[in-house]
Amino acid sequence: MSKQSMREEAERLIRETMEKRNLVVKHGATRIEAVCGKCGAPNRLQADRGETRVKYVCKQCGHKQETL
Ligand SMILES: [Zn+2]
Repeated sequence: MSKQSMREEAERLIRETMEKRNLVVKHGATRIEAVCGKCGAPNRLQADRGETRVKYVCKQCGHKQETL
């Protein structure tokens, strides 16, 4: 194996690892339907897997809060 092809192989592996990691992050994200504590408007949020408390700003009234 030449130096050139070894470098290409290494770069390919790094690229594949990065792509897999991105997929895992996307797959692990969950959607949360949060209802604003101030105006009651529904807000659709994205949270990482296992994360239940997400800080967000209500899209309707701009009230800053955390999901329960
Ligand atoms: Zn609100």
